[in-house]
Amino acid sequence: MAKVLISTAMFPEAVERLKGAGHEVEVLESPPAQGWKAALQDKEALICPLSLRVNAALLEAAPRLRVVANLGVGVDNIDLQEAARRGIAVTNTPDVLTEATADLGWALLLTVARRVVEADGDLRAHGFPGWTFIPPHLGVDVYRKTLGVVGFGRIGQAVARRAQGFSMRILYHSRTRNPQAEQALGATWVPLHELLKESDFLVLCVPLTPETRHLIGARELGLMKREAILVNIARGPVVDEAALVEALREGRILGAGLDVFEEEPKVHPGLLPLRNVVLLPHIGSATWATRRKMADMAVDAVLAVLAGTKPPNLVVPR
Ligand code: NAP
Repeated sequence: MAKVLISTAMFPEAVERLKGAGHEVEVLESPPAQGWKAALQDKEALICPLSLRVNAALLEAAPRLRVVANLGVGVDNIDLQEAARRGIAVTNTPDVLTEATADLGWALLLTVARRVVEADGDLRAHGFPGWTFIPPHLGVDVYRKTLGVVGFGRIGQAVARRAQGFSMRILYHSRTRNPQAEQALGATWVPLHELLKESDFLVLCVPLTPETRHLIGARELGLMKREAILVNIARGPVVDEAALVEALREGRILGAGLDVFEEEPKVHPGLLPLRNVVLLPHIGSATWATRRKMADMAVDAVLAVLAGTKPPNLVVPR
C-alpha cells in the first residue's frame, strides 16, 4: 500500500482504481493549506496538473516520491533532470489528447477568421440590427488558403489533417523533416522565416523548451502577412506576448487565437481590450472523453511504478 497525492480535482472512477489496488489516495483541489512539504512528505506518487511547478524545491519536499504522473503531454512544468537525479519516474499523456487539441486549434482558427466571438458579443449587447450586405463583421476565407504549422508532431499533423478538408496548402516547420507525413498530408517543409511569410494561418504546436521560448517575437510577427492569423495551442511562452499585443494593436497581423498564455493564469492586460484576439483558458484537451483518458493514463503509470514495473509514457530527460 502506498500513499498517492492527486493535486487537482479528479474523476471518482480514477481515484477508485487507485484505491481498488490498495493505495491510499488524497485529492487536493486547491494548493495544500499546510504547504507542499506537509502534503508530500509521505507520498510515493503524485498525479498533478501541468499548472503545478514540479521544481527542485517541490521534489525536495517529497523524499519518498517514486513517480510524477503529469496530466498533459507537455512536461515543461517539471524539472526532469532533478527528477531523474532523484530516481523519480515522470510520465505524461501523449496521443489521447491529440485530436481534441487539434479540434480546439481549428475552433480558434475559424472563430478568429470569421469573427464569431465579436459578432456574438455585439448581438448580445446591441441586438440583431437585421441582415446587411456589408456587415461590421466581415471576415476572411479559410478555404484554399495557406496553413503554416510550427511543430509537426502528433498535434501539428492532426491540425494539418483537418486542413485537407478546406483544400488548404499545408506548410510546416520543425527541426527535422518528416517525409512520411509530408506525403500523407501533402505538406511541405519550409524554413521558419518562409513559413512566417507564406502562411495565412500560423498554428503553433511545439513543446516549450529553451529553444522554443519566444520563438515568435517582434521580428517573426513582422515577417507575417498583415492578413495573417496566429493560433497558439502550444504553450504561452512560445510567443512573446508583449510583442503580440503590439502587433495586434497596430494591425500588423489580422488576429490571434490563444489557448495559452505566457504567465498563466495571468493574461497580458493588453490583450483583454483587443477585439481581434480570442482568448481561451487553456482548454485544448478539455473534453470529457479526453480528460477521462488522460486520468486513466496517469493512474496506469502510477499503478505500474508502485507495482515495480516500467510505466507507460515514461518521459526521459534529454
Ligand atoms: P510532439 O508529437 O512531440 O510534437 C512536437 C513537434 O515539435 C515535433 O514535430 C518536433 O519536431 C517539433 N519541435 C520541437 N522543438 C522544435 C523547435 N525548436 N523548432 C521547431 N519544431 C520543434 O508533441 P505533441 O503531442 O504534438 O504536443 C506538442 C505540444 O503541444 C506539447 O508539448 C504541449 O506543450 C502542447 N499541448 C497543448 C495543449 C493545450 O491544451 N493547448 C494540449 C496538448 C498539448 P522536431 O523535434 O523534429 O523539431
